[in-house]
Amino acid sequence: MSNQTKFAVIDGVLQGVQQLPSPNFNQRPANTQIQLVVIHNISLPPSQFGGGYIQQFFQNQLDWNAHPYFQTIEGMQVSAHLLILRTGEVIQFVNFNDRAWHAGRSSYLGVPECNDYSIGIELEGSDDLPFEAVQYQSLVQVVSALQQTYPKIQQHIAGHSDIAPQRKTDPGEHFHWADFRELLHKENHTN
Ligand SMILES: [Zn+2]
Repeated sequence: MSNQTKFAVIDGVLQGVQQLPSPNFNQRPANTQIQLVVIHNISLPPSQFGGGYIQQFFQNQLDWNAHPYFQTIEGMQVSAHLLILRTGEVIQFVNFNDRAWHAGRSSYLGVPECNDYSIGIELEGSDDLPFEAVQYQSLVQVVSALQQTYPKIQQHIAGHSDIAPQRKTDPGEHFHWADFRELLHKENHTN
């Protein structure tokens, strides 16, 4: 991995990736430090990839009539800071300094409202299908950059299902936490 481009964060913006600003954010509470990364999966329609619908959804531009499933999420206003497509491409929707709307009612280590203090990363995927190796590669590079920029994150990386276990199942059993953490450890100790 050492010959790959590294990500840098400047003023809450991940450099070198596409920026698609989402209106679905607000300010983090005053004096809140970023100290958690939450990993999700999403696909629109479910388990279908590459249509561009996630990007439209996070920008409140999705045509609710384009697919029957979309009517089940009609009017929802959500976002994540980052989306990692099946190709490994990374897209940023919300500045890291701002509060994205990805976690919902949630709690991590007893602290509620994870949106207040976390960064949300969506992997294009589903609970039923393996993720792509390039998605792990991008995720590792992004999380490494975030850990360097926001040192309070340390090892605080959780799945949506960890912080909202009654409601959420993502990123699902196909997300290989041990492999991810091993890759992240290597990334952080070879640079
Ligand atoms: Zn989620």
